[in-house]
This record gives sequence, C-alpha cells and structure tokens, in this order.
Amino acid sequence: MALVRVRYAPSPTGSLHVGNARTALFNWLFARRHGGRFVVRFEDTDTERAGEEAARAIIVALRWLGLTWDEGPEVGGPYGPYFQSMRLDLYRRYAERLLLQERAYECYCTPEELEARRRRAQAGRRPFRYEGTCRHLTDAERAACRRQGRRPALRLMVPDTGTVEVHDRIKGTVSFDNAVLDDFVIMKSDGWPTYNFACVVDDHEMRISHVIRAEEHLSNTPKQLHVYRALEAEPPEFAHLPMVLAPDRSKLSKRHGATAVEEYRQMGILPQALLNYLLLLGWSYDGTTEIISLEEASRIFDLDRVNRTNAVFDEDKLLWMNHQYIKTARLHRLARLVVPRLAEAGVLPDMITLGEFRRLRRILALIQERMHTLNEAPALIGYFFGDDVEYDPAAVARRLAGPEVPDILERAADNLAAAGDWKPDVVEQVIRDTAASLGVKAAQVIHPVRVAVTGVMVGPGLFDVLHLVGRERTIRRLRRAAARLRAGELVATVAAGPTDGPGSP
Ligand code: GLU
Repeated sequence: MALVRVRYAPSPTGSLHVGNARTALFNWLFARRHGGRFVVRFEDTDTERAGEEAARAIIVALRWLGLTWDEGPEVGGPYGPYFQSMRLDLYRRYAERLLLQERAYECYCTPEELEARRRRAQAGRRPFRYEGTCRHLTDAERAACRRQGRRPALRLMVPDTGTVEVHDRIKGTVSFDNAVLDDFVIMKSDGWPTYNFACVVDDHEMRISHVIRAEEHLSNTPKQLHVYRALEAEPPEFAHLPMVLAPDRSKLSKRHGATAVEEYRQMGILPQALLNYLLLLGWSYDGTTEIISLEEASRIFDLDRVNRTNAVFDEDKLLWMNHQYIKTARLHRLARLVVPRLAEAGVLPDMITLGEFRRLRRILALIQERMHTLNEAPALIGYFFGDDVEYDPAAVARRLAGPEVPDILERAADNLAAAGDWKPDVVEQVIRDTAASLGVKAAQVIHPVRVAVTGVMVGPGLFDVLHLVGRERTIRRLRRAAARLRAGELVATVAAGPTDGPGSP
C-alpha cells in the first residue's frame, strides 16, 4: 500500500461530538496501523471567525483524548496552513484552472432567482436541479451581467447522463445517477469555496490516501468524484462510517444528554475509557476482552471490521468501561487525576504535600474498586480529610439512633486512644474487645463506629478505613458524635426515620 495519509477534517461549529471523536479515532488508528500520517484540517469556510473558539475547543478535546496528529494546527506540516479560511488563494487558483479548461463556468443567477426556481420546482413536486442556465452564456452576456453589478459564482460542469460509482471500503459500491446531480457551485460569488470543492482540493493537495468519515458524507462523494475527474486527480479510497445513534435510534443529539467529549471529561470519564468505548462502537473485535488499549488497537485495527450497521451510544456501557479503567488504574495516576476534583469540592487544598499525596494513594487503593467516575471521588473519600463529617440522615437513623450508642462510641474512643500501634489489625482487636467488654456483638460496635466516623453506612473494610482516617481524627469524631447524640442533635435532624440499607463490617 502506498503511504497511508488520512485526515480528520472537522467543521468548527461546536464542541467535539462523540460521533466525530470516533471518526478521529478510526483515522488515527488506521494511520498508526499502517505506519502512516494523521492530519487534522479545519474546514472553516462556513464558520469564519465564529469558528475560532470552536476550533480551539476541538483541539483541546483531541489532545485530552491523546489523538495526536502528525500534521495540522499547532504542529504544522508540509501542506499547511491547516485552516481552510487561510487557503482561499489555493481554491481560487484551482477554480480558475477549471474555468480556463471549460470544466467550470460562471453563473450569474442571483440567490433570489434561484430561490424562485426552487420554489416553482417544489410546487410542481419536482426536485430542484440547477438547469444549466448560465452554461452557455456568451462573453457579451456575461459582460452585461457584470455591468448590472452581478458577481458570478462558479459551477462545475456535471454530465447529464451516466452514473458515478463510489467504491466504499465499508458500504461497498454505491452508484449515483448523474441525472440527480446538477452543476453544483464550487466557488461562491463572495470568493469562498464550497465544502465539496475545498475538501477535494485539500485532500488532493495534502496527498490524502484514504478518506474515512461519517456516513452523512456518502451523498457528497459523487460530487467530489466529479471534482477529482475535472482536476484529473486520482481520488483517495473512501470509507464511510456507520452512524452513532441515540438509544431511541434517532440522531444522537443534546436532548439525549451529554454528546460532547468535553462533557464526558467533566463527568469524570477517563480518556482511555472513552476511546475504548468509541472503538467498540462500530468496530467488531473478536478478542476475549472488551478492554483494549490504544497501543493494542493500533496494531490490529482495520477497516474490514468496521460494522455496516449503525451503532447505538450506550452511556451505561461507557460508565461500565470507565469503572474497568478506574479500578485498574495505577494509584499514582489516579491520585493525580482526582486531586483537582477534590480541590474543587473543597476536600483538599489545590497544592498538597508529598506526604498527603502518598496518603491519598493509600486511600484510593481502598476505594478504587468502588469508583465509577472521577467525580465520585469527593463523596467516596471526603471523610478521610478535614474535621467535619457530613452525616447521611438515613445512616444516622439506622445506626446511631439507639440509646446505647453514645456509650458504645465513647468506650470505643477510649479504647482506641489507649491502643498500641495504629494498624488495621490492632484497630480490629480493640473494636472486638470493646464489643466483648460491653457484652454486645461486634457488629453493634462496628456499624455505629463506621457511621460516626465516615457519615455513611457503606465503604471499604472499617479497620482499614479507621487506620487511614487516622487515630486522632477517629477519636475526635467518635467523641463528638457521642456528645451530639446525647444532646439530641444528630438524630433530631433525621426526618426520614429508619431505613433498611446494606451495612458491611
Ligand atoms: N467538515 C466535515 C464535517 O465536519 C467533514 C468532511 C469530510 O470529512 O470530508 O462533517
């Protein structure tokens, strides 16, 4: 195979949609698999200035995903610039060549005239096709139009008969009748190119070997093939990816919830999990696991395994995938990822000491298994930090309401204060001895101690938790809870009454 050069060519109209991220990913993987180059190019001919911010957001999202490009914005490359709005001269030169070769012609029809004709066609229930009105204007007629102040658009001469065939790597061969196409505009009267023209000029100039893009562009491909033909240029191979649909099988859009990569970042999804999920969205893998690293995927990815049917975006599956990545993440990395979220929630300061960072790693080792998104970190581990605990009213009602509880908590606090080394097994022994000396079951100490210290009913093993909460903080919280219970404070705030929830020692 000749050198593989693929591109991701977003129109900067908004943030990076997950469907588009999948297109970028498949291009990236294809380039990696074949030792090729991955190019990013912004198609900003419609969006102009408004597109700058969107382009920035797309760049940030691609970088966050780790889909780095070999040529494109910020990295440069031999075929730049990589914003179409900065390549207008190039399109003009190509268009002039087609004009000279009489493969394109000037069209002086005004938007109003075209609109009137379109409406007439609609009224007669005919599809509107440009009728070739200006195809055969004489020089004198053109000059007359210009004198009237009309500025021409350029249209490509498209044959009225015959067919054009798209040989698609995923869809197979799709044939289009030229009769349904018309002489479409390649340059607008304001001097800007249309998508179908600029895209071909760029793919040709940038030596793109494979165009891998969303299925919605399949219908543009016959037009683009006519441009290649007119330019006497070799078209690339095409591969149109099936759509990414919402669970109700409509187009995935904002009304279905999060659709942008940035929104998933904010929800605490890891980029690797999102990429792994997107990989399986439309690509079938017959391995034994669904967890595939980018490295592995770039060794095995191929277009032949892209499904022909549309994919359905399933957020629950993505969350499941995220959980798989979080529970196996290296603690050091996980700690770095959650620090900003803990800081935002006020659990930790922005800057923490190395000692605190190491403690955070040990805490994460305890709860890693339970965390589905990074955003759950403050709720899951907040009680390891600070003085105050936030009490879950249901937990208080269920575990702290009994009249014997203040005594139990105080006795546990006394015994823990007198314990030898602050280690999980020592803590366990003290708690069990406390129960024995009070003549109650261990669970009758374990459950209230957990709620008094952590505020919640469930969590990792209590002795590990107390060990990492720390001796002083544990004792302080036990005593404080006992005092508040005696003062009728904690339970009085409970409106919900006892509930049956799970508890674990
Ligand atoms: N700019 C187009 C889009 O964002 C992509 C066109 C293409 O890949 O050819 O949908």
